[in-house]
Amino acid sequence: MDLGIAGRLALVTGASQGIGRAVALTLAREGARVVAVARNPDRLSALIGAIEREGGWARAVPADLSRPPERARLLAELERLGQVELFLGNTGGPPPGPAQALRSEELHNAAEQLLYPMVDLTRALLPGMQARRFGRILYITSLAVREPIENLALSNTLRAGLTGYAKTLAREVAAWGITVNTLGPGYTQTERLEAILAHRAAQRGVSLEAAHAEQTALIPMSRLASPQEIADVAVFLLSERASYLTGQALMVEGGALRSLL
Ligand code: NAD
Repeated sequence: MDLGIAGRLALVTGASQGIGRAVALTLAREGARVVAVARNPDRLSALIGAIEREGGWARAVPADLSRPPERARLLAELERLGQVELFLGNTGGPPPGPAQALRSEELHNAAEQLLYPMVDLTRALLPGMQARRFGRILYITSLAVREPIENLALSNTLRAGLTGYAKTLAREVAAWGITVNTLGPGYTQTERLEAILAHRAAQRGVSLEAAHAEQTALIPMSRLASPQEIADVAVFLLSERASYLTGQALMVEGGALRSLL
């Protein structure tokens, strides 16, 4: 299947590791020109090197997207690079904690990372997509939008908010050939999940292997996802082929969720 991605300019945020990195690499392999954004310039350079060694095209824009001036600087850089047609909106997860202790300042800080960058970048990219009558927007959320996860109040709250924004936007821009979807990863073998499992193991005084086993026991496939398995679905959703698929919250979770829809 020709995904119709070759030559298109893609913006991938949170691209230095994990799911975002896998999406950036996969888009480049499909011929997209990739603008990769994250905070760590060294990791971004390593990604650009990996893409270029495979014959792909990529540029790095180091930026902390939780800071509004850095979002503005990214948008100024993008103006020089051309019109983004494919946008993967992704950043790191917020700190854990229960809902009853949640403070509005914490919610605001987490929104600066998970929600506001997506809204600001999308608003800026939309006019160009509308002019071309083509665009693909995909936000990474979590399986928690379908079944909230204990002690992750910030994540549960903000990812639900982003899902509501995406659904609203999807209907507004569908007539221009722009699709807007969200992808909720299940438990995926990334540095972030490794850190979470190591923390859990230390807290309970059990081995890392035991923490892994406890996690995978919740997944009918009895294993974590690889970042590539998430990226393959994301790249399809970002492709020309996924042209009639919009307003969806797709969970890629190895059967972990029990909900009917
Ligand atoms: P990760 O922490 O490994 O990678 C996050 C990426 O975002 C990194 O490149 C990081 O540098 C970048 N980033 C973080 N904050 C940023 C900021 N303020 N500005 C710019 N870049 C920033 O995460 P991951 O495991 O690849 O997951 C990606 C997303 O999916 C996260 O939001 C995560 O919470 C969510 N998620 C992950 C899992 C999992 O099991 N890994 C499950 C459900 C949801």
